[in-house]
Amino acid sequence: MDNLTNINVIKDIFERHGFTFSKALGQNFIVNPSVCPKIAEMGNAKEGFGVIEIGTGVGVLTNELAKRADKVVAVEIDTRLIPILEETLAEYDNVRIINADVMKTDLGAVIEEHFKGLDVAVCANLPYYITSPIIMYLLESRLPIKTITVMVQKEAGVRLCAKPGSRECGAVTAAVRYYSEPELLFNVSRGSFMPSPNVDSCVIRLNILEKPPVDVKDEKFFFKTVRGAFSQRRKNLANSLSSSMGIDKAMVIKSIHNAGLSENIRPEQLSLEELAAVSNGLYCMK
Ligand code: SAM
Repeated sequence: MDNLTNINVIKDIFERHGFTFSKALGQNFIVNPSVCPKIAEMGNAKEGFGVIEIGTGVGVLTNELAKRADKVVAVEIDTRLIPILEETLAEYDNVRIINADVMKTDLGAVIEEHFKGLDVAVCANLPYYITSPIIMYLLESRLPIKTITVMVQKEAGVRLCAKPGSRECGAVTAAVRYYSEPELLFNVSRGSFMPSPNVDSCVIRLNILEKPPVDVKDEKFFFKTVRGAFSQRRKNLANSLSSSMGIDKAMVIKSIHNAGLSENIRPEQLSLEELAAVSNGLYCMK
């Protein structure tokens, strides 16, 4: 069904199915007709690709993905949307809907089962209440994915695409840079959604790297260090790390010095390489 950005069409579907929006599930559906074709085209929905979509709503983006990609598997948590999707996606035989929480879905098994011989991409207008956990889940699972193209809140997009060493940087920035090359693709105004949220959005693409750009002695410990470094934004790196990781401050300062840095440096001033050097130093002192 092609006209899913037409408000009258959506209202008619909702009325017939007795559907009302759930704020708790982050249900702001796209009604600007130019947005979904752009996400699909910039998100690798094309021949030779299988696409995973997270959160279908009424299927407005799913339609655009199904037109272009070889196969689409969409994970939607809200059971009330399933009969609606049966109607709005009826013309496609290359779409499979999984009614589940994406955070509890084994996407590796989904890829194995549905995308044999295909490259894989993720495209989504993410529910904003769990943007970072979903992105981290996708990255940390090390799935064989080429790109993750997602709509997120504008502030989250800026943080996710920030350069390590810049003011906008946070723990999630470092994690994103460890696994991918992020790009901010385009902005989307709040009026493009029904209901309209209180903030504007943007679409970002994470181009997954074959190999991390830095060498770390222990990945788990590296991410613990990153989370610890950014856990107390007002403190400098030495204080943040020693209090959040329970490591003696003198040892933390030693590893900061060994990485060639000043003990007063703030976490957001560190490059990914410097974060790795501090973490590797601390790991060796354990
Ligand atoms: N793709 C649609 C669009 O652009 O109009 C809907 C986007 S809406 C922002 C987010 C969607 O994600 C909703 O349909 C919501 O029910 C679904 N959702 C929320 N939490 C989810 C979860 N944990 N797993 C899967 N889907 C989820």
